[in-house]
Amino acid sequence: MNARVAVFNGIPGTFSIDTVEIPPLKPGEVLVKVRACSLCKSDLHTSMGRRNEPTPTILGHEIVGEVVSFSPQTESSSPFIAFNNTELQVGDRISWSITAGCTNCENCIGDLPQKCSTVHKYGHTKMDTHAPLAGGLASHVILHPHTFIYKIPNSLPDQLACLANCSTATAYAVCEKVPSFQDKSVLIFGAGLLGLTCSAMAKVRGASSITIIDPNQESRIRAKFFGADRTLEHFDQSNTYDVVLELSGAHDACQTSVNACNTNAHLIFAGAVAPINSVYINPEMIVRRLLTIHGVHNYHPTFLGPAIEFLVANLTNFPFSRLIHSNYYLNEIETAVKVADQLPGTRIVIVPSAEDALTGE
Ligand SMILES: [Zn+2]
Ligand SMILES: [Zn+2]
Repeated sequence: MNARVAVFNGIPGTFSIDTVEIPPLKPGEVLVKVRACSLCKSDLHTSMGRRNEPTPTILGHEIVGEVVSFSPQTESSSPFIAFNNTELQVGDRISWSITAGCTNCENCIGDLPQKCSTVHKYGHTKMDTHAPLAGGLASHVILHPHTFIYKIPNSLPDQLACLANCSTATAYAVCEKVPSFQDKSVLIFGAGLLGLTCSAMAKVRGASSITIIDPNQESRIRAKFFGADRTLEHFDQSNTYDVVLELSGAHDACQTSVNACNTNAHLIFAGAVAPINSVYINPEMIVRRLLTIHGVHNYHPTFLGPAIEFLVANLTNFPFSRLIHSNYYLNEIETAVKVADQLPGTRIVIVPSAEDALTGE
């Protein structure tokens, strides 16, 4: 059996569409047929040459798939399979944690499998015999042992389910770092998918006001539909906030985020995932304002479950479907990344071929 793959070899904007033989599954692995994979900003940074990943590689981590087969040694009752407490079957529609840990290293034993010393990260791994099919820009993916797998409820269309294992689960991880949003004023830097999802979650968790800063006008308009009470083009220094979420990764935003904090505020950094110049932070301000500062990267795999539940529960409360711009086939990937790179705040979804119809919508 063969898989079709879009391989990125490190030349910006180019992919080669290849056919590779699917190897026999090793113990604990699961073979999945890709139904849809949305293009994340990190995929665009890499494919446009702004960020380095080991190549050749199959990009794409925001994936929804269908179980094709289990390795003969994999029990479907394995503790890493189907964490929503239902047994996984061939044909089930699933998504899975962006990372899989080894379970043995210091971080895995310390319940930080997302920071495993040999972490397997889908769509960010060199294509080799150890990981021949590890990205979503392909017809098939092989899931590593210890991947947390979740069934997708029927009410969640493929295109929206793609968002779950990246922006929704990361947003959940960000919001979990804040003890309470109830009656808190919230400031969010960045109205990308992460910012909009955090805004929606903050609203649901009882925030008294939500302000979102983004230089892009379209993104600011979109933010109004995701719980934002006020949007700004730039931080205006006139207010301070109980919760500050830096989700843009922009240098100026990182620099000003501490100034935006109220006494006893929680400040979470999750946007700076590409190289960035250092910022100046006055320690006296952190001390006198009693600030709590957290970084969030690679959510804990168990957060994918509540992230999917959040999407399902809020499909009618927030227009998540508006975040999906359009679909392209795998063989149109070069056009798709160029178009996606010009579309801040929305996603383009890649489907393997015309026969692989999307559900819903
Ligand atoms: Zn992503
Ligand atoms: Zn580990």
